[in-house]
Amino acid sequence: MTDCLFCKIVAKEIPSTPVGETDLIYAFRDIAPTAPTHVLLIPKEHLASSAGDLGSDDGPWMADLFVLAAQIAADEGLDDGWRLITNVGPAAGQTVFHIHFHLMGGW
Ligand code: 5GP
Ligand code: ZN
Repeated sequence: MTDCLFCKIVAKEIPSTPVGETDLIYAFRDIAPTAPTHVLLIPKEHLASSAGDLGSDDGPWMADLFVLAAQIAADEGLDDGWRLITNVGPAAGQTVFHIHFHLMGGW
């Protein structure tokens, strides 16, 4: 999607700090972290605007995202626990409408 911030980040049109990736998923540091570790995980393709738009065929990339999240949590030393959060809609605080998950920990 041409005017999507996260599509531009995947395309490297906007710089980001990578943390990990798979063929389907890109993970990078949040520009305004609200936890000591605050990483965003997104599908490289603009597959949905939020978790409110998912269907049963979204299983494979979602599984990839959760496996990568656990690998990053281990790499970041989040042994005491971590959160994986997705906001759906402006009332929940969603500001970027390319589905993404916040991996947070390290308190
Ligand atoms: P949301 O509020 O939609 O759930 O989360 C969007 C997140 O994207 C926010 O935590 C915000 O700090 C982050 N963000 C916004 N613009 C940029 C950017 O240009 N680069 C990076 N790395 N993160 C961004
Ligand atoms: Zn997008």
